[in-house]
Amino acid sequence: MIEDQRGDSRGSASAAAPDEGRAKPPAPIDRTALRRLLGLAVPYRWALLGGGVCLIITSLLGLVIPWLVRGLIDSVILTSGGGTLRRTILIFGVVAVVQAIVGIAQGYLLSYAGERLVADLRRRLYAHLQGLSVGFFDGRRVGELLSRLTNDVAAIQTSLTSNLLNFLQQLITLIGALALVILTDWRLAGIIAAAVPPIVLAASFFGRRLQTLANENQAALGAATTVLEETLAGARTVKAFGREGHEIARYGRSVERTFVVAMRRVRVRAVFGPTITLVALCALAGVLIFGAQEVASGRLTPGELVAALLYMTMVAGPLGGMAGVYAQLREASGAAERLFELLDTAPAITDAPGATALSLPVRGAIGLEGVTFDYGVAGGGIAPLVLRGVTLDIAPGETVALVGPSGAGKTTLANLLLRFYDPVGGRILLDGQDTRAVTLDSLRDALGVVPQEPLLFGGTIAENIAYGRLDATPGEIAASAAAANAHDFIAGLPQGYDTIVGERGVLLSGGQRQRVAIARAILKDPRVLILDEATSSLDTASEAAIQGALERLSRGRTTIVIAHRLSTIERADRIVVLERGQIVEQGTHAQLLARGGLYARLHSRNFADLTEVAEVAEPVAAGG
Ligand code: ADP
Repeated sequence: MIEDQRGDSRGSASAAAPDEGRAKPPAPIDRTALRRLLGLAVPYRWALLGGGVCLIITSLLGLVIPWLVRGLIDSVILTSGGGTLRRTILIFGVVAVVQAIVGIAQGYLLSYAGERLVADLRRRLYAHLQGLSVGFFDGRRVGELLSRLTNDVAAIQTSLTSNLLNFLQQLITLIGALALVILTDWRLAGIIAAAVPPIVLAASFFGRRLQTLANENQAALGAATTVLEETLAGARTVKAFGREGHEIARYGRSVERTFVVAMRRVRVRAVFGPTITLVALCALAGVLIFGAQEVASGRLTPGELVAALLYMTMVAGPLGGMAGVYAQLREASGAAERLFELLDTAPAITDAPGATALSLPVRGAIGLEGVTFDYGVAGGGIAPLVLRGVTLDIAPGETVALVGPSGAGKTTLANLLLRFYDPVGGRILLDGQDTRAVTLDSLRDALGVVPQEPLLFGGTIAENIAYGRLDATPGEIAASAAAANAHDFIAGLPQGYDTIVGERGVLLSGGQRQRVAIARAILKDPRVLILDEATSSLDTASEAAIQGALERLSRGRTTIVIAHRLSTIERADRIVVLERGQIVEQGTHAQLLARGGLYARLHSRNFADLTEVAEVAEPVAAGG
């Protein structure tokens, strides 16, 4: 499946974008998915094969025990032969020890294959996710992707290694036990066999019901977790609106729903076990009555009857378990289908065939030629054009300030430069080379970004700065921090550059985070810089520190700044005014003021309040 970042809006208005991962009604088993799943196990075939052989041996050895008991009763107890007793006990001991040893090997080998498979699958999925482009993540909830890497992978592990192999073990036991009883007395086997259909029917009925309830339970739990996640992460909003009581009630309802589903499961389970036991006991009674008559008439020895009874108990377990196998297979195939869907999603943004690295040294000349873009729409309809024929040439080393009302397309333009998305029409050139014809790695190497709200990863300050260049030395890190006006505040932190920041660490102010992000960009030393200026106002001191750092950062580089502050805009070599996806004016501050157009109007509002600014522009026509 091709990752779809713009739906099918261009071709047909009604075509819905493929929507992977949404809840689907219980589907039949997908054989292709299961086959591909088995394909994943191929690298561990030797461990699986070894484990499988051990499994067959332990299953067969399990069948030997009742046979020994039979011999013990018939030849030892009834005819009191001392030699036979010792020999039987010896064999019994050997069988028990061998079964234990082979059992250990079986457990180890099969678990190894299962754990290896899961670890590799997780790694592969993660690597694949990292390869997908921004458009893919736009339309997806992170929780859903997390669930695939954790729950779906775990479901596959359970079903593939324990359930499937248990099934194999049960099958061997069942066939072996029945065969041995038939050898002893086929009529007795007939009575046991008569108990099979009712047990299988009851087990499959309850099994299916339990499966449905397990799914409902999973969904109810998921819904409750979502409420939890949202409201705890958004604790500030909840408190600011005084909605604690409202959220308590909402979470209470979700929890209540999980309770109701859980109780339904409890009821089915409560009936399930005893019902199976009842059917099994009826069959047992039948075997006992018939067997006693056979023993009395001399057609069956007491040992044979006991062995038959033991085999019967061995058969009852597998029968109950087998009914669940189908449901488990369905679960595994569902999980596999979802995982393969993810693995089959091809990245929308990749290196073109024959893409070459950007020729070095990069000068930083940017050219936009009639760039048109839309984000596509989920579920059909006509996607509104976000950029319409934008043509712009930026010289190496030039600083261009993008201004315009909120929603004009400034961020989108920056996203296209980074190739987070590709234009629908027109092209974007860097040093005269189409950005789609060069490798992504070389393109992004040449570009640096300081986002509006920089994200710091949980780790030390030094690690966060070194994200700009992973092999940077401590000296280089400190130098770039100094250039970003960040050195002083970092030195003042409890552990300096080794202070842990981000979640569960020291929380930095917005202005401090900005400066760490600038230090990152300085360390990366890109030829082209994209700055998304923070809209939130900072205190004058932070403001001055950031402005100074940015100035140093942009010196000698081609810089495109999504500007919100008059001071930044005035310093730019050129101001480009965007409105509704089009360039409406460009020039220097003085030229544009003299022109008396949109820029002059925006300027009179001080560029401060974006909502106010948006009101200056006429309302955008709905639907583009
Ligand atoms: P600006 O940066 O000028 O405020 P943007 O480039 O962020 O404007 O947005 C331009 C238009 O594109 C807006 O109408 C916005 O709603 C839309 N848009 C932005 N990002 C996305 C996205 N990821 N998916 C769909 N539409 C988007």
